[in-house]
Amino acid sequence: MHSPPAVSNPSASLPAPVDADSAACLRCGVCCHSTLETYVRVTGDDWARLGADAQRYAHFIGHRAYLRMQDGHCAALAQQTDPATGARLHVCSIYSRRPQVCRDLARGSPACEAELLRKGPASSAAHPGLPPAPGLPLSAP
Ligand code: SF4
Ligand code: SF4
Repeated sequence: MHSPPAVSNPSASLPAPVDADSAACLRCGVCCHSTLETYVRVTGDDWARLGADAQRYAHFIGHRAYLRMQDGHCAALAQQTDPATGARLHVCSIYSRRPQVCRDLARGSPACEAELLRKGPASSAAHPGLPPAPGLPLSAP
């Protein structure tokens, strides 16, 4: 999650050049996808960090808050096309304010590898050095 770089306004522009790991996450976005409504927990600190956007991107289910999900992915995930390559990019529109659970999931970590193995597909171009994924649908929980 948890590392796609961000733009402040996802409809405005693509992110500035980023390091190789972040660029790979930008082409991946697997860990930002789920059909589970309780996929990304939002703590009190997370809610406060979202500020005026808290209600837009998060909501309560029972007594706990979670990021809103739509179309099989986090509502804060913006899909863009790289005009230079035509590649599909997965951009976190709240990157600097994303929940702690997103901050903790580092590319190449066991959690990242588990996401790729569970959900794939992972292209070799997007995930050099990481294990191949079995090609399950992105919308799988
Ligand atoms: S699953 Fe791993 S490689 Fe893909 S976006 Fe998440 S952290 Fe990055
Ligand atoms: S806030 Fe959403 S789009 Fe951003 S890293 Fe977390 S799951 Fe991905």
